[in-house]
Amino acid sequence: MNMRTRVGIIGAGPAGLLLSLLLAADGIDSVVLENRSREEIESTIRAGVLEQGTVDLMEELGLGERMQREGAIHHGIELRFDGEGHRIDFSTLTNGRGITLYAQHEVVKDCVAERLKQGGPIFFNVKDVHLYNVASDQPSIQFVHEDETIELQCDFIAGCDGFHGVARSSIPEAKQKIFTRSYPFGWLGILMQAPPSSKELIYAYHERGFALVSTRSPTLQRMYIQCDPLDAIENWSDAMILEELQARLESKDNWQLKVGPVSQKSILAMRSFVIEPMQYGRLFLAGDAAHIVPPTGAKGLNLAANDIRHLAHALTLYYKRNETDLLEAYSKTCLRRVWRAEHFSWWMTSMLHRFPDDDAFQQRMQRAQLEYTVSSQAASASLAENYVGLPFGW
Ligand SMILES: Cc1cc2nc3c(=O)[nH]c(=O)nc-3n(C[C@H](O)[C@H](O)[C@H](O)COP(=O)(O)OP(=O)(O)OC[C@H]3O[C@@H](n4cnc5c(N)ncnc54)[C@H](O)[C@@H]3O)c2cc1C
Repeated sequence: MNMRTRVGIIGAGPAGLLLSLLLAADGIDSVVLENRSREEIESTIRAGVLEQGTVDLMEELGLGERMQREGAIHHGIELRFDGEGHRIDFSTLTNGRGITLYAQHEVVKDCVAERLKQGGPIFFNVKDVHLYNVASDQPSIQFVHEDETIELQCDFIAGCDGFHGVARSSIPEAKQKIFTRSYPFGWLGILMQAPPSSKELIYAYHERGFALVSTRSPTLQRMYIQCDPLDAIENWSDAMILEELQARLESKDNWQLKVGPVSQKSILAMRSFVIEPMQYGRLFLAGDAAHIVPPTGAKGLNLAANDIRHLAHALTLYYKRNETDLLEAYSKTCLRRVWRAEHFSWWMTSMLHRFPDDDAFQQRMQRAQLEYTVSSQAASASLAENYVGLPFGW
């Protein structure tokens, strides 16, 4: 079967779905291809911190109602070390800005519902996705859906298929440059049925390793501890995880972690990754397909939203005014923010984690950085403005 669309979008993660909705708002048709089921993408637990720019984007698309009702606005985070908490006050340091806690799979649910309501096609459970002629004016995507092979002719292809997707491999090796760093630790993440232990996120530096207290709702909490990235989750009983959390979050002021049944647990490896350029011919990469950050700075989902905002704008100008300047500048424009976020995520990660080979010197460096960050207004403001997100177009 043959089909035609203006923009073929591979991947129904936040990047692909938000792009399809932004394009639709400008009257540009697209087809979204996703290799997992709707149920799977709507239940995969990932990010949860939305910068103001991502919140604004959701609202612009008419998706703000549930987010405003169920999400929580935070105006600061706590950095905890030596048993003491130090608040980084986003409101004062960034002119009233903050972050919204709203889980990524809720963003995905809202986007899928809106896309289907608008009648925009999403093909779930596709297989054998192949890209053809991406360097030409007539790129195409071949895929299998319900045992039928479909040839999708496009003007442009958006590779929004995440780090393990297929789109990136269509860029010839000679035309790409990869920058990457693996970290010698991972995050063991859990969901716990309990009330929040804190009004804001707690980032803890401890000799046993990093810990993070985050939240999903008044009854569901998200927590992480640094662990060996090669460890098997079966090696961690719920009791062991809770013991580590309590030890790493120890506090001189009698603060107590509120505990409850653990409903989900997994181990996430951590890496930094960037491909340059993010475009080849008529193929544009966006989100995790083009870059990965360790989750410490909560930037992954927000970077994806930033990419597609630029891409949608560039495509709109192409279709409305036949302008190609922004399409040509897409990679350069996005990479500036990508590298800022890469640096911030690497910096937060390096400051807060224990490295297996760290010596007394390295630990003194981390402590000096932590003490400076919480005591200098300039250093706190730098963390705050990066965390809440630099303005769109920065
Ligand atoms: C376990 C985990 C935890 C994370 N936690 C955090 C966090 O706490 N904070 C944070 O900021 N970020 C976090 N991230 C990162 C954040 O979730 C990503 O940056 C975000 O999902 C990027 O969105 P995306 O749309 O670019 O990619 P994705 O969300 O990965 O979406 C890509 C989509 O493409 C689909 N796909 C893949 N291959 C194909 C194919 N061949 N054909 C069709 N479809 C395909 C996938 O199934 C997926 O649905 C986490 C990531 C992971 C993996």
